[in-house]
Amino acid sequence: MEPRVILLDLDGTLRERGEVVPGAAQAIVELRRAGHTVRVFTNTDSRSEAALVQRVRRARIPVALGEVFTPVVAAKRLLTPDSRVLVLADPEVRDDLAGHAPPAGDPTHVIVGDCRQTLDYPGLDAAFRAVRNGAELLALQRGRYFRAADGDHLDTGAVVAAIEYASGRSARVLGKPSPDFFRLAAAAPAGRVWVVGDDRTTDILMANEAGATSVQVRTGKYADQRAAGDLPRPVHVIDSVADLPALLAAQP
Ligand SMILES: [Mg+2]
Repeated sequence: MEPRVILLDLDGTLRERGEVVPGAAQAIVELRRAGHTVRVFTNTDSRSEAALVQRVRRARIPVALGEVFTPVVAAKRLLTPDSRVLVLADPEVRDDLAGHAPPAGDPTHVIVGDCRQTLDYPGLDAAFRAVRNGAELLALQRGRYFRAADGDHLDTGAVVAAIEYASGRSARVLGKPSPDFFRLAAAAPAGRVWVVGDDRTTDILMANEAGATSVQVRTGKYADQRAAGDLPRPVHVIDSVADLPALLAAQP
């Protein structure tokens, strides 16, 4: 088959409970050998692009800078030299977007990401005022809460919702399953793109809505979503990402 752009979800697809899924690294090598372009994607909004690439490489998943796509990367691709950005996120992400910090003048964009370490009233208030003055509100993702070893915690979406509520403006979401995320990550016509993930509410939804080929793996969230009848349906289902090269090779 002709070369495709293959977007591979990280958590639950390439990695599960801190371990690399057996055969995942070899699958990436085989896909590249067959001529496909491979990119890894994740909705993580707490890491800079470079830090995340290092983390993935430490897990022995073979990727280079520019091959891992996150909402932070999406934001960097979306902004122009004229953008002036107010960032509500932790220092690592703020520094990654620092090239767009407003030296003077009103912000053109407010970007909200993981701000567990930095959230305070003055920052939230400045973001509200900038959005009310016309800055575009960009949400790196809009999860309501996230789960950690010690229980559930307030996520980025709740902070975004506070600014939306006060300003009366709606955020543009950059993380999956948004069309922006797909368009910027794929950078290719949807007909040439395959999206592989474990989550029907994000990975499969995003692929189907964009017109790409969706593949669900039976790892990660697959078991939790198996019984749910009203979720988007993937084009293909495979046991794990290790089976992806064979699936692609079998296509006409
Ligand atoms: Mg996943």
